[in-house]
Amino acid sequence: MTNPVVAVLGTGTMGAGMVRSLRRAGIPVRAWNRDAAKAQALTDTGAEAHGSPAEAVAGVDVVLTMLFDADAAIDVVRRAAPAAGTTWLQCSTVGVEGAERTAAVAAELGLALVDCPVLGTKEPAEKGALVMLASGPEQLREPLAPVLDALGSKTLWLGRAGAGSRLKMACNAWLFMITAGAAQSIALARGLGVDPQHFLAAIEGGPLDTPYAHVKGGLMIDGRFPVSFGLPGATKDARLISDALRSAGVSDRLDAAVLETMEAAAAALDDPDAADVSAVIAGLTDPR
Ligand code: NAP
Repeated sequence: MTNPVVAVLGTGTMGAGMVRSLRRAGIPVRAWNRDAAKAQALTDTGAEAHGSPAEAVAGVDVVLTMLFDADAAIDVVRRAAPAAGTTWLQCSTVGVEGAERTAAVAAELGLALVDCPVLGTKEPAEKGALVMLASGPEQLREPLAPVLDALGSKTLWLGRAGAGSRLKMACNAWLFMITAGAAQSIALARGLGVDPQHFLAAIEGGPLDTPYAHVKGGLMIDGRFPVSFGLPGATKDARLISDALRSAGVSDRLDAAVLETMEAAAAALDDPDAADVSAVIAGLTDPR
């Protein structure tokens, strides 16, 4: 598999950026998306747009899924029915139980599953600067290297398929704590009559600082929430994290508070489906 041909199923915010990164590295891409216009919009990269999942996977070495959740990924891969022996690079965030279900489907279809959720959002996807949390058969490490190197700034190989999805839960739990924490401090500063920019200035450069607080905090202060990590996807992930916490015997109290705040934000926003996770602040500031 020196020059792998990759089918990308799902060219939403993340999948579109990943197609661009693969193409920049010279990797042939056959793309499919439910809303066909999004795959069509990528043909300027040299990617081919196909009308069905089955058409997109014909003859490819690697099927990359970047879909909303496990149900969507499983449904689309079943419809694609790739040839037995094809590598399934499953990058959607599917959680612990979702990773088990994708492994069962891979076994049923004779696919070699690499469970590989990613860290990073829209811009890292476009720049090939994701962190690839890969888990699966050791012998696929080398043949998949050109694909993983095109998509990410680094790849962690974590063991058996499913280990990537487990680590992803721990990473997103952290991401949500930072995001919700920034939202709470900004809302609190405002409520106390303090300019919230002073909060960001106070933490800047010190041990409490993190770049994410400035990126997301700046949007929260401006009240602009252009989608990088969509609120619906973040809410889905907060539910997956609660499930993971309970399955691990750890309290989900903190995550439950974040989830409740995301749901309150969705209720407060005019168009929650078009909002970024930074809009979680609306769940703290809306009187409802
Ligand atoms: P997105 O822009 O909402 O894209 C979701 C994709 O899933 C779209 O291609 C959508 O198709 C497709 N889809 C949804 N339901 C489907 C169904 N039932 N059947 C077929 N296709 C379906 O979301 P995204 O941000 O790219 O996220 C994709 C995955 O990456 C998610 O698992 C997310 O948790 C994960 N992730 C996201 C980020 C981030 O920062 N955005 C970071 C890391 C991981 P349509 O275009 O037709 O709706």
